[in-house]
Amino acid sequence: MFNSENLSVNEQNHLTIGNHDTVELAKEFGTPLYVLDEDLMRKNCRSYKEALDKYYGGNGLILFASKALCTMHTAKVTEEEGLGADVVSGGELYTLHKADFPMEKVFFHGNNKTYDEIELAIKLGVGHIVVDNRYELDLVNEIAKSYGIIQKILFRIKPGIDAHTHDFIKTGQIDSKFGVALENGEAIQIHQYALTLPNIQIDGVHCHIGSQIFDVEPFCEAANVMLNFISDLYDSLSLKIKILNLGGGFGIKYSSEDDPLPVSVYIEKVAEAVKAFALEKGIKPPFLVFEPGRSIAASAGITLYTVGCVKEIENVRTYVSVDGGMSDNPRYILYGAKYSAVVANNASAEPIAPITIAGKCCESGDLIQENIMMPEVKVGDTLAVLATGAYNYSMASNYNRIPRPPIVAVRGDEKKVIVKRESYEDIIRNDII
Ligand SMILES: *Cc1c(COP(=O)(O)O)cnc(C)c1O
Repeated sequence: MFNSENLSVNEQNHLTIGNHDTVELAKEFGTPLYVLDEDLMRKNCRSYKEALDKYYGGNGLILFASKALCTMHTAKVTEEEGLGADVVSGGELYTLHKADFPMEKVFFHGNNKTYDEIELAIKLGVGHIVVDNRYELDLVNEIAKSYGIIQKILFRIKPGIDAHTHDFIKTGQIDSKFGVALENGEAIQIHQYALTLPNIQIDGVHCHIGSQIFDVEPFCEAANVMLNFISDLYDSLSLKIKILNLGGGFGIKYSSEDDPLPVSVYIEKVAEAVKAFALEKGIKPPFLVFEPGRSIAASAGITLYTVGCVKEIENVRTYVSVDGGMSDNPRYILYGAKYSAVVANNASAEPIAPITIAGKCCESGDLIQENIMMPEVKVGDTLAVLATGAYNYSMASNYNRIPRPPIVAVRGDEKKVIVKRESYEDIIRNDII
């Protein structure tokens, strides 16, 4: 009935997550509230890991893309499940460090890492820096030198595949702020230059072709392009590449229109493609890295709101306003992201009419979803928005000085606040009159 296996309805006709009554959770912790089903998040981690073991002999590593959901607790969860992590900022890196995440399993991304961020990464002993450009390469070399170390790196490559939607395009990707391009020789040149730098060790190549991708072909195509490049690097520079990192981007089910493949199928097909291309090119199958974010965290999370004003504008539409909005979920306003919602206290009710779920921010665009079919929604109802585990808390803001909601993690019968609700005191913490 719902888009995630962990959601159900109990005898009170309340929505449950894991085995927890969401109406009770809303009462106990207040709304808006992020609820994370830790069991499902762990299960998602395991599906990736087991697939990589099964279809690639475990010769690789799954990284959780921290940007999807970065907290000390979730860092611990992913570590316990045997995953590494990727980070894209000093803040994400620091969070993992404070959670005692093993730094050798961290890959540091970003198209404009600052001097301070690179220095922090090197000081903390980050395993790999994914270098974006030549300016950054020089910085990494210089800072590594001052710390007397040789930094292991990968280069971020633009593989010429753009797969942000259901389709993918094979050209035009040169226009991206991330990485170095293949077709104009930039990628080869930067490797050649890096070989002259004493404090740099090139371990691998990386690409990331987009997000919420359902087809497996763009990933296989990217693997093909990257293995070609690995083979070119050997032929032209005698450089042996050990790691192939194919990024993240596997799609998830936000609404009934979405039809993602099981994680194991993505990994199986891509692993098989990598093995076949490696054989064809006569190179050793590389250590294979994936960086799923959304597909690990999104389905494990929901957001609970309390319904306030319901505004029926005759012949126009019905606005149902909730006690959160773009401050805890900016994805609709950013890119029209799809979501499904449930009246948590009347969870099996049939949809009867379209409603628009609006937030409380001072912005007309502050909507969670427009014109979705829902049962009757009344003042005081608990509204659950589904699949908000990724890119919600991590994208939340204090717009309108709205405190960010807490995250409660449920695991078996246990529940635990893993991020506290912000207070008004937190909001003014850094203000100076
Ligand atoms: C965003 C991103 C990911 C994760 O993408 P998902 O769609 O959440 O799986 C992984 N790697 C890089 C470099 C990214 O930018």
